[in-house]
Amino acid sequence: MKELGICKPQKDMTVAKKMVSIMIPCYNEQDSLRVLYAELTKILSPIDNYFFELLFINDGSQDQTLQIIEELYRNDNRISYIDLSRNFGKENAMLAGFDYAKGDCLIIMDADLQHPPSLIPEMLYWWEQGYDDVYAKRAERGKESLMRKYLSLAFYSILEKSTRFEILKNVGDFRLLDRKCVEAMKLLRENERYTKGMFCWIGFKKKEVIFEQGDRLAGVSSWGYRSLFNLAIEGIVSFTTFPLKIATMIGFFIALGAFLSLLYFLFKTLLYGDPVQGFPTLVCTMLFLGGMQLISIGIVGEYLGRIFHETKNRPTYLIRQYEQCGKQAFDNHKLTS
Ligand code: UDP
Ligand code: MG
Repeated sequence: MKELGICKPQKDMTVAKKMVSIMIPCYNEQDSLRVLYAELTKILSPIDNYFFELLFINDGSQDQTLQIIEELYRNDNRISYIDLSRNFGKENAMLAGFDYAKGDCLIIMDADLQHPPSLIPEMLYWWEQGYDDVYAKRAERGKESLMRKYLSLAFYSILEKSTRFEILKNVGDFRLLDRKCVEAMKLLRENERYTKGMFCWIGFKKKEVIFEQGDRLAGVSSWGYRSLFNLAIEGIVSFTTFPLKIATMIGFFIALGAFLSLLYFLFKTLLYGDPVQGFPTLVCTMLFLGGMQLISIGIVGEYLGRIFHETKNRPTYLIRQYEQCGKQAFDNHKLTS
């Protein structure tokens, strides 16, 4: 992005330097962290018109992730880290990041290098142009099975049709948020979180940048079909009450059909004196109706379950330890801002 002029060192700066936080949620990322850190350092070192904070969030990893973060923290005063008390999931880990990031803007990225740090200068450029939410859109989805691709497209189209705001396709959590957006995200404190939808819900001035998503550097994705299915249910149920309407509509049509067939059989018997037949039809109808009723109860149950969890009002995450970036980086920031 040299042509955008963002990487050029500005020697005679009179304006206050802004602080950019980079948040990296980590769950069992021991094999990626050092490579990510080296890559980030390479990209950030020529940019000297900002202070950087690298905020690692250890989401209850069972491997050496925390030890590696601690080691990086001791050697680099731009690093802050939060160690959560257990694995709360990426969605909750990100809320911790929103709460603790100090920057004037916040960049969210994965630890597995699927989100290329080389996009950061371009994001910063658009932020300086006045955009509040610069999100990265995948040019194509990485290596994925056809089924996974189609299922996720189906999910997006259901969600899109049933909500009143636009849900962006092929857009993940890799993005730059202005402080305004971070403050807005901090207000959304529900326990059952679907952060991708929330970014769209909060609005603000958005800008798209395109990137090629690579494959995971090491380890395996923690999203199997089951957790993706759960996330899809979460996305739909936490953003729209449309499934409840579908249940009502199906109930209405079935009742209408039943009433019409009742009239039909009544007149047939009265006019032609046909004896009532059709035990198998009766059984099928009853089973069909029973199934429909169970599905509807299930849908209501999904909402009820969420109300149950939210009314408990538990904190979304718990912190075992928080260390903030070196005094120097922080004081400089306070002095200038
Ligand atoms: N992650 C996390 N907590 C979890 C699962 C994942 O903080 O419970 C982090 C993970 O370390 C990575 C990011 O979230 O930095 C994305 O995870 P992953 O690569 O498994 O997801 P995918 O890229 O397949 O969507
Ligand atoms: Mg990944």
